[in-house]
Parts: sequence; structure tokens; C-alpha cells
Amino acid sequence: MGNIKVMSENLANKIAAGEVVEKCASVVKELVENSIDAEATIIKIELQNGGLKLIKVTDNGKGMDEKDALLAFQRHATSKLIHEDDLFFINTLGFRGEALPSIASVSELEMYTCNKDVGTHILIKGGKLVTNEPSDARIGTSISVSNLFYNTPARLKYLKSEQSELGNTVAFIEKLSFAHPEISFELINNDKTVVKTSGSNNLLKTIHEIYGLNVSSKMMELSVKNDDYEVEGYICKPEILKSNKNHITTIVNGRVVKNFELNKAINEAYFRYKPDIKYPVAVIKIETDPTLIDVNIHPTKQDIKMSKMDELCNMLISSIKDILQKELLIPNALKAEAVMEPIENTLIKNDAVNKVLEASLPKNLNEDIQIELNLNINEKETPYKEITKEDNTVITNPEFKKLKLEVIGQALGTYIVAQTEDGLYLIDQHAAEERVNYEKVTKEFENQDIKTQETLIPITIELSTSDFIKIKRHLNILEDMGFKIEEFGLNTYTIKEHPSWLKEGHEVEIINNIFDSIIEVGDKFDRIKFNNYVIATIACKMSVRANTRLSMEAMERIIEDLMKCENPYNCAHGRPSIIKFSNYDLEKMFKRVMN
Ligand code: ZN
Ligand code: ZN
Repeated sequence: MGNIKVMSENLANKIAAGEVVEKCASVVKELVENSIDAEATIIKIELQNGGLKLIKVTDNGKGMDEKDALLAFQRHATSKLIHEDDLFFINTLGFRGEALPSIASVSELEMYTCNKDVGTHILIKGGKLVTNEPSDARIGTSISVSNLFYNTPARLKYLKSEQSELGNTVAFIEKLSFAHPEISFELINNDKTVVKTSGSNNLLKTIHEIYGLNVSSKMMELSVKNDDYEVEGYICKPEILKSNKNHITTIVNGRVVKNFELNKAINEAYFRYKPDIKYPVAVIKIETDPTLIDVNIHPTKQDIKMSKMDELCNMLISSIKDILQKELLIPNALKAEAVMEPIENTLIKNDAVNKVLEASLPKNLNEDIQIELNLNINEKETPYKEITKEDNTVITNPEFKKLKLEVIGQALGTYIVAQTEDGLYLIDQHAAEERVNYEKVTKEFENQDIKTQETLIPITIELSTSDFIKIKRHLNILEDMGFKIEEFGLNTYTIKEHPSWLKEGHEVEIINNIFDSIIEVGDKFDRIKFNNYVIATIACKMSVRANTRLSMEAMERIIEDLMKCENPYNCAHGRPSIIKFSNYDLEKMFKRVMN
């Protein structure tokens, strides 16, 4: 009888392992979270081959006696249920008490732990207790997991390469150290330290320890709250934007979460301060009543659901926008050089809209390539309709306005050279004027009707029945864009009027592409982004090119107009419009100062 029970339990553990343990990082996660529960202040994670060979976590937490140590490897061991006031905490770790026995069932696990004088040494192989003896361990716990999945070949093959497994663990520990700046983490792979934090309990210092000075010196503090949520943390200046989203960390009630809406809100707040393909660095801590958090989420996903999400996101967006608006965001030429990645002129990528754009706009859209839209936007009668929900109250950037930029001249036919008491500024004349025009045209788009034109011969588009129905459901999108569209016989639409920016000779192609993306994404077709792209293109075309001689008056006018911009720091595509050489930088370069 006893044996049968043990067997079934071991089997259950193996099955649970499949649920809870997917990769080396999940083992690290479980072990490190146990260390945090044990109130450790120093946690060391040692890996061999990214964890494929060995994962060892050592902490200075309170350790266990023999009884607790053995209990930890039984399923449903409840001794670890901690703060009962924190429902969320227990529930997101749903398999708490199951993960450790699960890991032990699919690996060789060795533990040294001690909470008083006598320590305990336990060795478990494939779920079977091999050794249980006293040891002379010091206070704390050390757990080594080797040969993960050695007895479950089917799972083993899901483990990735060393680099990939290591990458996951590094990302996890980095984010965890933001959630716990009070804990010193050290992650070592093959005897080389990969991550190390000091446990200073200072978030900015931790950001510095993880991302380095280039990032930490460009972070801006955020602190805002409403009745339900308290938000604190750091967001980056646009000059250090990254090419992927992995540098946004959100922490809810002390736990790192991955929440699509939160990430999206943080990213969207930078709209118009960055190209679409760039993402901010942010560490955001959210505190809330645990009852506002939905607990029914699978534990291996770090996602959560929260009530009053819209309020939270809106608060987050407006506070980030507020900070961006107030700060002076001119990148310093010298430091910027090291951190600024080249920005391509692709405003929209990975977006259904992109397909439309690919057809409607020239490939490899370059700043200085003539863009062949029909651009009559300058004409005063241009009737534009309200088509974006963005608020159109433009507030001049106060800090930028305070700069008393004095134009000295033009360099290379492309840059306006200006100075203040603090340093020397180079302004990209095209980028600057494009920004000015972009904000102007945006307002026109927001305030007026879209200019449309009638087709000489109506354009007919025939579709499959299902596509025809999908378009029918979203005709409003097309109408809002300025298309006059009617049903015309079986599965066919006829278009008698279209927005005038459609490139002549390419109308059918562009319309087909717009149809395709509406069919594909329906209501999610992002009109704001689409319009934004059109506006940026128009602004680009309206603006002075590089390699154009400008008079002092013309340059002063550009600077004056730039002063009035909501976001004077980059062109419509996210390229910087102004950079600074501070007096100090210049003195340093000329060795007038030595450090
Ligand atoms: Zn341009
Ligand atoms: Zn541009």
C-alpha cells in the first residue's frame, strides 16, 4: 500500500513538473522565491552551462530544521503559505508547495539547510530520498539542482541552448532585483558573474547596477496615485530608447508581472517622442489592495488581471506624458553617442498598418527621398475632419522655451549652430522644421475635414464573401478615412471618392491593401497610427532639406518655431532634432579640465 502511494505521488510530481518547470529559469525562480520567503538578504545563484548542468541557489535566510526540510519535498506542503493578508501572493504562486517536490522528481536535488545549530543535508534523486543526515551547514539554505529532466527525456528536449536558458534566467534575476532592491543578488554562470546588485534598497542604484550609468543617469522619477493604485518608479528619457520591449519592468505588490496593458500604456505614453519600433526603459512599481487583483491565472505565466485597469493605465500615461513634457530632453552629444542606436525611418513596423504603408509609400522610406503622396496640405482650404482621439491642446515645453538659443550660423548646409550660456547646440534643420510642420499638420488633421477627391471612373473592388462581410462590418473605418464607398452587386464595392493623399496611379493597390489590413485586424485597425504616418510624411515633404543654404533669418525662424513645439526634441520619425555639447564637454575635449 505504502509503495503504491509513493509511486503515485512521484508520478503526480512528475506531471506537475511539466506544468511548473518549463526551463532552467523556472527552477531558479522557484528556488529564489523560496529564499526571499526565508527573508534572505543575500542570494547567490550559480549556474553551470546556463543551468543545464547545475543550478545552485544559496541564501542567508532563516533556513529550516530537519522536519521542515523534509516537508518541503512533499506535495501540498502548506507550511510555506505566508502572509494570509496577501491573497494575490499565495495565488499567483498557485503551485506553491508543489514546485519543489516537482523539481526534485525530475532532477538530482541536494539541499543543505540550517536554522539553529545542527544543519540538515538531503539528497533526492528522481524524487527518491537518497540521503538525509545532519550536516554542519551554516544558517541559511543552499539547494543544488543538477541534471534537470534527466529521467523525463520528453521534457528534456524542450530545454533550449545554454545561451537561451541563461538569457531567460538573467532577465528574470534582473527584474527580480528591481522588485527587491533590498536584496543583494549575484548570478554566476560558469564561474563568471553575470548580474550583481548590492542590496542597497535604492531602486535607482539597482537600475544603475543592472543597466549601467548610461541608462541610470537618464532615468526620471515617477510618483503618482489615485484611490486604488500607488505608482512609483523610473522612466527613461527618449534618448536611450531600446530596440525591444524587454526593458519595461512592472512590479505589482512586490511581484514582477508581465501585463500587456501596462506595457502598452507605458509605451504609448512615449507616442510622438519616439519611433514606433523603439521602446522605453522603465521600472514601475504598483501597490494596490490585493482584492483588486484577479487571482485565477496560471502560475508560470507572470501575467495578472486587475480591476480598474483603464484608470490605472490612464493615470500612468498622463503622468509619463507630464514628465516628458516638463523635462529638458536634449541629448548630450558625447554621452548620447554611446547609447543612441541608429534610428531608421520606419515609423511603423510589426503592424497591420504597415502593409498598407508598404504599398502606399515608397520602400525604405528615407528622410530625404521625395514622397509621392498627393500633398496639397498647405493650401488653406484643406478640409480635414477630426480623426484622432489624441488631445489637441498643445502645451509648449516650458524647459525648452527657457533656453535662449542664439543662432551663430549654419554648418555643412545641414545643421544650425546655436549657443547658450551652457553650451553649443547643433540643430538638424530638416528634423527641426519637420517637427514644426508635423505639429502644425497634426492640428489640421485633428480640427478639420479630410480632403478627398472624386475618382474619374469609380474604382470597383471584388472580394470573397467572407471578406466582403468583414469590410461591411467596418465600413465606418473607411468612411472616416475619407472614402466614399458603396455596395455594387455581388461581393463588390465601388469607391467614388477617396482621400486625396492616395498616390495617383496606385489608388487600387493602396485601397486593396487598406482592405486587407481591415479584413485582418478589423476594429483594431489603428487609424491614429496610420494618420500619424501620413502626417509625418506630409511634414517631411514640406520641410527644408539637408544641404540647403539658409539665411540667418530663416534659421532663427526655425528655432523660434521649434520653441513653440510640444515635443521639440525629435522629428516626426523619432530622429533627434537637437543635440548639445555642454561647456563642460567642450572643456573636457580640449583638456581644459582633466576629469
Ligand atoms: Zn523628413
Ligand atoms: Zn523625420
